[in-house]
Amino acid sequence: MSSSPLLNDLIDALRCLPGVGAKTAQRMAFHVLERDRAGAKKLADRLATAVERIGNCSRCRTFSEDPICALCANPQRDAQLLCVVETPVDQLAVEQATGYRGRYFVLLGRLSPLDGMGPKELGLDLLAARLAENEVHELIVATNPTVEGEATAHLLTQIARQANVRATRLAHGVPLGGELEFIDRGTLAHAFAGRQLLSD
Ligand code: ZN
Repeated sequence: MSSSPLLNDLIDALRCLPGVGAKTAQRMAFHVLERDRAGAKKLADRLATAVERIGNCSRCRTFSEDPICALCANPQRDAQLLCVVETPVDQLAVEQATGYRGRYFVLLGRLSPLDGMGPKELGLDLLAARLAENEVHELIVATNPTVEGEATAHLLTQIARQANVRATRLAHGVPLGGELEFIDRGTLAHAFAGRQLLSD
């Protein structure tokens, strides 16, 4: 505890950031007050603006300043492909790592009834309505290979089936450059089950 209540409040507020505990928050607070007040003002300003102005796209639910995000509004993107991801940061990862040219749907979470995350919270009614438009031909399920991600994938597959849309799942398995003997059993079993036909 410092002698300034305002400083204590600042340290406390900084702890809302992921990975920032009491010590780190304290170091950050002292740092900006000692050395970078201009930077801190800019950060405060950007934070306030971002929190106030960035909402969610009404079509895909990703972060957007406009009612419809730039990607949903882009006519160059293939409307027949819809990739479902858990979070906007997963969307960014797919976008940066692959040459995917379709569209996205962002769940903003994963199925987890104990945490209050059910079909409604994941926007699955919006997704079902989207599939009912008959524009999407393939639903690419890109949820994470965790227990909750797999449960979510199962539900998404059911929704796709009801709408007569083909559902595909990302392949999970052996990492590039990896060696079989060092891969955990679950990953190897998953990769083995998901083996594909070799073509020449
Ligand atoms: Zn969008």
